Amino acid sequence: MMNDLEQRLIQTIRDVPDFPKPGILFKDITPVLSDAALSAQVLDALAEYWSKKGIGAVAGIESRGFLFGSQLAIRLGVPFIPIRKKGKLPYKTIGHAYDLEYGSAEIEIHVDAVLPGQKVLIHDDLLATGGTAGATAQLIQKAGGTVSGFSFLIELSFLKGAEELKSYSMDIHSILKY
Ligand code: AMP
Repeated sequence: MMNDLEQRLIQTIRDVPDFPKPGILFKDITPVLSDAALSAQVLDALAEYWSKKGIGAVAGIESRGFLFGSQLAIRLGVPFIPIRKKGKLPYKTIGHAYDLEYGSAEIEIHVDAVLPGQKVLIHDDLLATGGTAGATAQLIQKAGGTVSGFSFLIELSFLKGAEELKSYSMDIHSILKY
């Protein structure tokens, strides 16, 4: 059974076929952002799930992971850590390169963003194959943190991304699964 929030999200998230390339059905959350009441419900659901778990910081993945990730960190009363594409962060950084379907990518974090052993929650808008969130988990570990969970608005379950993430943390939460 779907709850009210899941139903409203399904009705609101816009499917855009063949973006950014042919064959991808893009889940566009901008209509959710346009609806302040619905966005507040999303944030409430995230905060409710994570509030009792002793999270020490929220790491948001560029760029849609910043939208709710930063607000979630404020709600939890913990630091927000931006995870960015190479070359975007101004101060000293630690980087991590990882393979994509075609080619590779590199993400970065500021050297002083994570305290030793800090329990970091990784947040993004959507979990697909898990490649991006898994690389972020490796970067958090490189920076000295502990991955204590993964948070998504949307999970494309058929791509089995959660399987990729289990070795970092078993606590994988998404508000809506397709
Ligand atoms: P992955 O690394 O395969 O789990 O892909 C996750 C990243 O790509 C996230 O940052 C998502 O925002 C983005 N992404 C992948 N597939 C989609 C999709 N179908 N709709 C929207 N965003 C997607």
